Amino acid sequence: DRILLTGGTGFIGQPLCQALIARGYQLTVLSRRPAADVRARCGEVEPVSSLEALRNHEGFHGIINLAGEGIADKRWSAARKQKLRDSRIALTNQLVNIARTWTTLPAVLVSGSAVGYYGDQGTTEVSEETPPHDEFTHQLCRDWEQAAQQLGVDGVRVCLSRTGVVVGPDGGFLKRMVPPFRLGLGGRLGRGDQYMPWVHRTDVVMALVWMLEQQGASGPYNVVSPSPVTNGAFTRCLGGVLKRPTLAAVPAAALKLMLGEMSRLLLTGQRAYPARLGAAGFEFSYTNLEAALKDALGLK
Ligand code: NDP
Repeated sequence: DRILLTGGTGFIGQPLCQALIARGYQLTVLSRRPAADVRARCGEVEPVSSLEALRNHEGFHGIINLAGEGIADKRWSAARKQKLRDSRIALTNQLVNIARTWTTLPAVLVSGSAVGYYGDQGTTEVSEETPPHDEFTHQLCRDWEQAAQQLGVDGVRVCLSRTGVVVGPDGGFLKRMVPPFRLGLGGRLGRGDQYMPWVHRTDVVMALVWMLEQQGASGPYNVVSPSPVTNGAFTRCLGGVLKRPTLAAVPAAALKLMLGEMSRLLLTGQRAYPARLGAAGFEFSYTNLEAALKDALGLK
C-alpha cells in the first residue's frame, strides 16, 4: 500500500517514515525541500514538491497529514498567526480537493492536531470530550480538524491526533529547554502548576501507525502519555536527569514580555489523558517521564 505524507521530513515525520517503511508501506512525501534532502531525512520515499502534481492520481491507500509552520518558532504577530493557519488549514483544504480528483479516495486520513485544541484547562482532567477554552490554539486546531473532516463526508475514515508535548532526541520542545538546564539555569515557568501533557516520540509514531491501521478507529485521539505532570514536576525531573539545579524560576511576567501571546504555550496547559487510546487498548512504551527523558537525551 502507498501512503501520502505531509510533514514527513519533520521531527515526528522522520521516525514515522522509518516505521512505515519497516512495515512494508511505500511512501510519497510532500515537501518544499530538494528531493535529495527529503530522501536523506525520510529514506527510500518518493518526494513530491506540490499537491497539484498529484491531481488525477490513481490514489493512495492512506494519507498522514502533519505539515505546519512551527508553532513556537516566532512571536504570534497577526502575519505569523496567518502563516500558522495557512500552512495547516489551507494546505489541508488543498489536500482534500486534490484527493477528490483521484480515481479512488483513500481509505483513511490521519491528520494532525494538538492538545492546544482544548486551550487553557487549568487542573481539569481532559479527555476527548472536554469542552475547549476558546483561544488562538483552539481556533487553529479546530479549523485544522474540520478541514480534515471534510473527507469523512466522502466516507473516508478520518482520525485526528491531538498531540501533546513531544519529547524525543534532537528536536521539539526539549531541544529548546535543555541548554539553559545544562548551564544550571533551569527552573519552573511561572507558578509551575500548569500541566504538561508530555508524550514520547516513539509513542506518537506508534499511535499514528495504529490510527492508520485500526479499521474501527476514527475521530479525535489525545496522543499524550497516561501520566501528565505539572511544569514544576517536569522541571525537577529534567534537572534530576541532567544532574543540574533547577532553582532559576522564570517569572510569568518576563515570559509574557519576551514572548507575548505565545507565552500561553508555556504558562498554560492541559492535564490531558489518552482516554480513547486507552479504552481501545493502545499500549504506551513510555509512561514514566524520567525514562522518557533519559531515552530522549541518550542517557542511561
Ligand atoms: P516539524 O516542525 O519538525 O516539521 C514540520 C513539517 O511541516 C516539516 O516536515 C515541513 O516540511 C512542513 N512544513 C512546515 N511549514 C510548512 C509550510 N509553510 N508549508 C508546507 N509544509 C510546511 O514539526 P513536528 O514534526 O514537531 O510536528 C508535526 C506536526 O505536529 C506539526 O503540525 C505540529 O504543529 C504538530 N505537533 C507537534 C508537537 C511537538 O511537540 N513536536 C506537539 C503537538 C502538535 P518541509 O520543510 O519538508 O517542507
